[in-house]
Amino acid sequence: MCLLCLDDCSPVQSICNSCLINLPALRSCCDKCREPFPPHQPDDSILCKRCQTTPRHFESCISPLIYRFPVSTMVQKIKYNRCLLFERPLTAHLVNSLQDHYCDTPWPEALIPVPLHWWKLRKRGFNQAGVIASQLSKATGVPVLHSHVKRVSHGTPQQGLSASQRQKNIRGAFAIKKPIPFTHIAVVDDVMTTGATTEELCRVLKKHGVQTVDVWCLARTPTF
Ligand SMILES: [Zn+2]
Ligand SMILES: [Zn+2]
Repeated sequence: MCLLCLDDCSPVQSICNSCLINLPALRSCCDKCREPFPPHQPDDSILCKRCQTTPRHFESCISPLIYRFPVSTMVQKIKYNRCLLFERPLTAHLVNSLQDHYCDTPWPEALIPVPLHWWKLRKRGFNQAGVIASQLSKATGVPVLHSHVKRVSHGTPQQGLSASQRQKNIRGAFAIKKPIPFTHIAVVDDVMTTGATTEELCRVLKKHGVQTVDVWCLARTPTF
């Protein structure tokens, strides 16, 4: 039975094909950070305002979906209820986008999931970004580095802060535990909202010798 519409579906699938096809796909968005463009955006736009004016710490972002219902519910069920049945269809969407993106450009040498602070990890019991990274590793053959980076502060809540305040608030949130023996890394997270947290991790990786950082996430939050 499909977990979304309760229709019949194959026992190996958690959601039916019709629900899978109808997940909100990310189409009109920034070429670099994949931030969804608002509806009135001119057709010839390539980069969002932020990517036009501020250098980013990552080279590209790959994300197939918009963080809207039912994707938002599915992601929250993975995160807070450990409902991993929802993880597979979302990861499958991302794998399709990755195959398109890397068809004529080199794949990263390793994946680094955005780490959780130990306190949050203990409370939640698992890191959803780690689970997603392991699944993506199985599908792509790119290994995961689970213990090279740690979260040293869980930060004060980011809600209600502007983009630059968020960036300042998250500074120093990550520390390198072991040298990273690769020059091209993909940072994996479930959802990218403003990107402040993800970008801080990318900044730290670059400071420690990584030359190319891509971001892989299941969905992107619209800012409008
Ligand atoms: Zn369905
Ligand atoms: Zn952008």
